[in-house]
Amino acid sequence: MLKKLLIANRGEIAVRVIRAAQDLGIATVAVYSAADADALHVKIADEAVHIGPPAAKKSYLDMNALLEAARSTGCDSIHPGYGFLAENADFSDAVTATGLVFVGPSGRAIRLMGDKVSARSAAAAAGVPVVPGSAGRVESIEAARAVLEETGFPVMIKAAAGGGGRGIRIANSLDEFDQAFPQAQAEALAAFGDGGLYMEKVIGRARHIEVQILADGRDAVHCFERECSLQRRRQKVWEEAPSRALSDALRAELCASAVALAKAVSYSGAGTVEYLYDDAADRFYFIEMNTRIQVEHPVTEAITGIDLVAEMLRIAGGEPLRLSQGNIRVKGHAIEVRLNAEDPARDFAPFPGKVGDLRIPGGPGVRFDSMLYSGYDVPPFYDSLLAKLIVHGETREAAIARLVRALRELEIAGMKTTKPLFLALAADPAVLAGDVHTRWLEGWLTDNAAALAG
Ligand code: ADP
Ligand code: ADP
Ligand code: MG
Repeated sequence: MLKKLLIANRGEIAVRVIRAAQDLGIATVAVYSAADADALHVKIADEAVHIGPPAAKKSYLDMNALLEAARSTGCDSIHPGYGFLAENADFSDAVTATGLVFVGPSGRAIRLMGDKVSARSAAAAAGVPVVPGSAGRVESIEAARAVLEETGFPVMIKAAAGGGGRGIRIANSLDEFDQAFPQAQAEALAAFGDGGLYMEKVIGRARHIEVQILADGRDAVHCFERECSLQRRRQKVWEEAPSRALSDALRAELCASAVALAKAVSYSGAGTVEYLYDDAADRFYFIEMNTRIQVEHPVTEAITGIDLVAEMLRIAGGEPLRLSQGNIRVKGHAIEVRLNAEDPARDFAPFPGKVGDLRIPGGPGVRFDSMLYSGYDVPPFYDSLLAKLIVHGETREAAIARLVRALRELEIAGMKTTKPLFLALAADPAVLAGDVHTRWLEGWLTDNAAALAG
C-alpha cells in the first residue's frame, strides 16, 4: 500500500484525492502556487509545499518543482488529478524514473491512448467502431482535402493533443475548411505544444456516452456508463448515469468494447472510454479515451457504491483489482452539475472573487464536492469549476427532484455561478424527457438567454 502521496493538483479534485488517501490511511502532501496559499486542499492535507508563482506553467505544470516537492517530503507516490499533467506521458515516466509511483497508467499507455489519433487507431484495431475520418494525423492541407471525400461536410478538425473541449473546429464548406485548417494547426501548437491535427465526420444529434473503466494491467472491469450530452462549447455541464438512451443489449456491447480496449493496451488505473451514440441510426462511435480520473466520476460512484479514487490508489499500490464484473451493480440514478464561477446572464463570463456566506446542501442522496469555504477568495488564474453537486435517487425523476431541492438549498453569496442554469434546465421539458443531444444546450441557451438574465 502507498504510504505518502503528493497530490499534483488544486481545486476540488485535489480535495477529493486527499479525502480518498486519508480514508485509506495514506499521508498527504498538497502543493500550491502563490495564488493558492489559502486554498482548501492546502488546509486539509497533512503537509503542503509551495511550488511557484500563480501561472500554471511555473507551478502546477512544473514537473521538476513537483518531483522536488515529493522528494523533500518523503512521498512514495504522486496522484495527478485531472487537467494539468494528468495525461502527460513524460510526467508519468519521470515520476516512475524517480522511483515514485504514478497513480495512473504508464507513460506507454498514456502515449497510446492519451494521444487522440493513436487512440483512434488502437480502438479500430481492437474492433471498436470509430467516427469516419482520417486514418492518422493529417500533415498537410492536400492530405486533409483527400479525407474530405470520406467525411463530407460538416467536418471536424481536431487537435491530437486537445482536451477540455478545446482544439476542435467545424467547417461547413471547402472555403471554411481552407481557412480553418491552418488556424487550427497554429492554435493547437500554441495551446498544446503539438500542432498535430486529425479529422472526423460530424455526427449530428448524437449523445455523448462514456464508459468508466478500472484496470490493473492484467484484468479490466467497467463500472457502466455516464451520459454527458448537455454541453456548452463541447464542455460537459450536466452528467448522469445510467443513460436512458441505451437498451440493455447496447449497454452490454458498449461496455464490453471499452473493456476490450483497456485489455488490448494492458491498461492500469481508472480510465474513461468516450463514445458518440447516434440514436436515430442506433450506432455508436469511439471518440477518445481519457487516461485519468474524470470530473464526473462521482456519478458512477453514486450508482455503483465504488470509491473510484480509492481503487486507483489501491491499484497503484500494487493490489490486484478487487472488483469482479459480476459484483458491480447499478442502483438508482445519479446526476452531477458543475457549479462554475461564471455569470450565465453574461455569456458565462468568468467571475472570480470572494465567497460570502456559504450554505452547502445536504440530506439523503446529496453530495457536494468543492473547494469552497466562506471567506475564500477565488483566484482568477485557473479553470472556473468551484463545486460539483451530485444527487442520487431511486429513479431519474427522484434524482431531478433532489437536484432542485439541493440547488435551492445551496447558497454561494457574493459569487455569480451556473446555479440558475441548472434550476432552469431541471424544469425544461426536453431535459425532463431526456430528449437531448450534444448540440441541444447551445440552441436552448440562445432561446433562453432572457430567462437566465432575469
Ligand atoms: P472531463 O473530461 O473529466 O469530463 P473536462 O473535459 O472538463 O472534464 O477536463 C477536465 C479538466 O482537464 C479541465 O480543467 C480541462 O480544462 C482540463 N483538460 C483536459 N484535457 C486537457 C488537455 N489536453 N490540456 C489541457 N487541459 C486539459
Ligand atoms: P475533448 O478531448 O475536448 O473532450 P472530444 O473528442 O471528447 O474532445 O469531444 C468533445 C465533444 O465534442 C464531444 O463530447 C462531442 O460533443 C463533440 N464532438 C467530438 N467529436 C465529434 C464528432 N465527430 N461529431 C460530433 N460531435 C463531436
Ligand atoms: Mg472528451
